[in-house]
Amino acid sequence: MKKRAFLVLLSFLLAIPLFGVNNTAKAATTFTDVGASHRAAKEIYYLAQGGIAQGASATEFGPNKRMTRAEAAALIGRALQLNGTKRVTSFKDVGSGMFASGYIQSAAEKGILSGYSDKTFHPYQEVTRGEMAVMISKAFGYEYGNTLSGAANALKSRGIAQGKTDGSFGASERIIRADFSVFLARAINPKFRLVENTVTFKDARWINVDSLNVRTGPNDAYPKVGAVKQDQQVKSAYKVGAWNYIQYGSIEGFVHGSYLRDTAEAKPAGVDPRIAKQVVVLDPGHGGRDSGATGFGIYEKNVVLDTGLKVNNLFKQTPFQVKMTRSTDKFVELRDRVSYAKSVGANTFISIHANAGGGTGSETYYYSAYKNPNVADSKLLATKIQNRLVAAWNLADRGVKNGNFHVIRENTMPAVLVELGFIDRKADNDKLRSDYWRNAAAKAIYLGTLDYYKAKGYEVDGLYDVVK
Ligand SMILES: [Zn+2]
Repeated sequence: MKKRAFLVLLSFLLAIPLFGVNNTAKAATTFTDVGASHRAAKEIYYLAQGGIAQGASATEFGPNKRMTRAEAAALIGRALQLNGTKRVTSFKDVGSGMFASGYIQSAAEKGILSGYSDKTFHPYQEVTRGEMAVMISKAFGYEYGNTLSGAANALKSRGIAQGKTDGSFGASERIIRADFSVFLARAINPKFRLVENTVTFKDARWINVDSLNVRTGPNDAYPKVGAVKQDQQVKSAYKVGAWNYIQYGSIEGFVHGSYLRDTAEAKPAGVDPRIAKQVVVLDPGHGGRDSGATGFGIYEKNVVLDTGLKVNNLFKQTPFQVKMTRSTDKFVELRDRVSYAKSVGANTFISIHANAGGGTGSETYYYSAYKNPNVADSKLLATKIQNRLVAAWNLADRGVKNGNFHVIRENTMPAVLVELGFIDRKADNDKLRSDYWRNAAAKAIYLGTLDYYKAKGYEVDGLYDVVK
């Protein structure tokens, strides 16, 4: 990346306010120990921008700290979008509560990392340059002949790493976090590499959605550099997890592979053309001066906004038209939420809240009254969302209920209000505060809405893949 472009990127990062709930994976960050002139600044901030690299503490990156095997697994796992949910692993020295247990297990299952013959992983062992070269070669699918020197050559030939001044690779030297970040950023994005033209855009692909954003990195947190329209041909060079690095005209960047097809002819998409006329309005409750319910230090308004934005991101990848009553931390009157939904011609309205008052579990409301023509559809939508949410979150199923809430009473389209869980109950709060579980809730709301449309006779089978 050119220096000027980097400064623009850095100022963009600095301008992003920290998000209120526990969302460290996505929060934009500046590290007090990585100034703009640090030799690895652009690579570290590039990885941090996509949530791939995180600080060693709340304020510091720890660029000179040695990289451990657990940290390396986490960085590579996040880059490749592996399942990072903490869980039981096949290694006796990596417990399920360990911060990188999910990434270590996922990377082991994919053959990117391996442990030792005594079923240990040595998570706190420091990584050498040679091990780094092997990990990156495996993660990115480089041919390296299963040798350290082969892996070193795979990185050198791509402009990812250099040899030492004495001609060796320094394979047995321990690697620090700054250097590991530099190598990983170069592997992900050729714009960071030491040599130009190290990738070949050789695979023809065609765009399989209306419009596809091209991003600077391999996940949705990265800014878009352009967009490609349905049926356009692009050229793909390689993949980082599920994301392809593509070229289209003068644009180079990442797109999610599920929106590419490998033939010029469109396959039957499995999506009803009427779906493109359906307007879904998402309504994160509260906002601004109204924080909603609180519990264990977090606010309902932040939890439901983040969940709503995640649902919005899912619908954005489909032909649905999706709108939000608020997409920032601002106060919106209930009547304005309703008039907004009506003004944009909403076909379905989904309000998202968190409960309080000492209970536990998930519940979804619709409004039942004889004068309301949408009772049956509202109840159907509520039922579909509730079923998906209970399956995803596995909290108590408090059921689908009739509720006299303004936004579902006054609206004139099928309308529901989801209470994800109780913010003042520890077990529920643990999910509400977790980025992973808010993602799971967002998927549940999205899938429940698809289930509703399917039950109403729309062909939506082609849209279930969006959550994969
Ligand atoms: Zn609420």
